[in-house]
Amino acid sequence: QIPEIASPTRTKAIMETYGLNFKKSLGQNFLTDINILKNIVAAAEVGPEDDVIEIGPGIGALTEQLAKRAHQVMALEIDDRLIPVLGETLSPYDNVTIVHQDVLKADLAALIAANFDGKHNLKLVANLPYYITTPIIMHLLESGIDFATIVVMMQKEVAQRLSAQPGSKDYSSLSIGIQYAMDAEIAFIVPKTVFMPQPKVDSAIIALKKKEVIAEKPQDEKHFNKLVRGAFMHRRKSLWNNLQGLYGKDSEVKATMTQALEKVGIAPSVRAERLTIHDFIILSDALLALGI
Ligand code: SAM
Repeated sequence: QIPEIASPTRTKAIMETYGLNFKKSLGQNFLTDINILKNIVAAAEVGPEDDVIEIGPGIGALTEQLAKRAHQVMALEIDDRLIPVLGETLSPYDNVTIVHQDVLKADLAALIAANFDGKHNLKLVANLPYYITTPIIMHLLESGIDFATIVVMMQKEVAQRLSAQPGSKDYSSLSIGIQYAMDAEIAFIVPKTVFMPQPKVDSAIIALKKKEVIAEKPQDEKHFNKLVRGAFMHRRKSLWNNLQGLYGKDSEVKATMTQALEKVGIAPSVRAERLTIHDFIILSDALLALGI
């Protein structure tokens, strides 16, 4: 029986057979610990009801574990050298599609429509390339795709930001962007030693699960997103200063902003990091109602 792709000996053998080196510029740190891979798949609760997207399959270590449990797997890999490798390592699995594309340029909705039947839960599971973790998360959010679950490995600091709560130094517009529609939790921390080659930073698996109900929604999501991003523009400044940066210093605008803040009971002197998602929603709606 062929050993799992993830084993250190098989990983080395595959790289040697194809004469490949690990490309640092593409964030290629491959997982070589089967237990960690199984734990990632377990954190995403992948089963036959699920269609799974993977970003950056590498030589297929995680893809293989996903293919064993999921209905269908679609994996996007940017590195052309790895496409023939994946063709071979994943040949025992008939439920895997490899797409040779840059995830940041990919039209994910079109790929999903082309490769999945729309009758299964949609999940995203990946060991992300760390040099573009935040752009990938933003790309996923902006795609508007309704993922049931996103379980991804990233550098520990970014995972802490995504799951941060109000009042914490890690709380940011990214935390709000994610937690608006999903519950975010760090599933477990991963030591550097399980990668080949070892990265410099510690890693964490973050589990994002779609909220059963979104308790409240802003009237205008674009307005809300703009407000959140603007409020965190200068972290050390007050909400009031950031609002002026966002909407202007014109006396009429200032009077309207004061009125909106009074209406929702938020002090202008507060910093954005203290505000909950609910605070941002009512402030966005109040500003909008007053014509800002
Ligand atoms: N899934 C494998 C594993 O867990 O061992 C490899 C993970 S490795 C951290 C990240 C992978 O993402 C690499 O295979 C890399 O080539 C790929 N990658 C980097 N940038 C990418 C991009 N823009 N789009 C798609 N894949 C990318």
